[in-house]
Amino acid sequence: DTVSDDLIKSIRTIPDYPKEGILFRDITTLLGDARAFRRAVDALVQPWAGSKIDQVAGIEARGFILGGAVAHQLSAGFVPIRKKGKLPHETVRIAYSLEYGLDEMEMHKDAIKPGDKVILVDDLIATGGTAEGATKLLKQMGAEVVAACFIIDLPDLGGRKKLEALDVPVRTLVEFP
Ligand code: IMP
Repeated sequence: DTVSDDLIKSIRTIPDYPKEGILFRDITTLLGDARAFRRAVDALVQPWAGSKIDQVAGIEARGFILGGAVAHQLSAGFVPIRKKGKLPHETVRIAYSLEYGLDEMEMHKDAIKPGDKVILVDDLIATGGTAEGATKLLKQMGAEVVAACFIIDLPDLGGRKKLEALDVPVRTLVEFP
């Protein structure tokens, strides 16, 4: 559709970043385009416009930018999910798989109340390891993860299926094969 076509044009591709052979999809050009930024946020939240969402959880760091805008649009709170060691108060932590090896992410223990309806936001889903870790952390704290939203899907890497296996609907706006 036209929204996807417009958005795809606003995303820049950087070859061989951060490593040779990788095509990095760079959303800073989308964020810097006022019309594209608004359309992306509007399109991401559209299925939940008017429904009661308690919190939007954003994954560091690009998920903070989008998640903040999404939370404002839905009149929800915002919860940062960060790399370990960055949050000042008591946290809950989970290990998650990266392309090579493991890392850990965490969120504040008191950020989510049991039963909270939460939408998870990041810029891009690839293998789904990052979003799967975030979903498990949110569910551990009693959240109902209503959906996970991303601007970009790399469908060949199968991330969507990982989240759907956890009963989380996935919304994405553009795909790069
Ligand atoms: P996954 O865990 O394999 O799904 O990787 C997704 C995470 O890596 C997200 O936090 C993305 O921001 C980041 N990521 C992976 N590839 C790209 C890319 O091409 N552009 C921007 N972010 C990426």
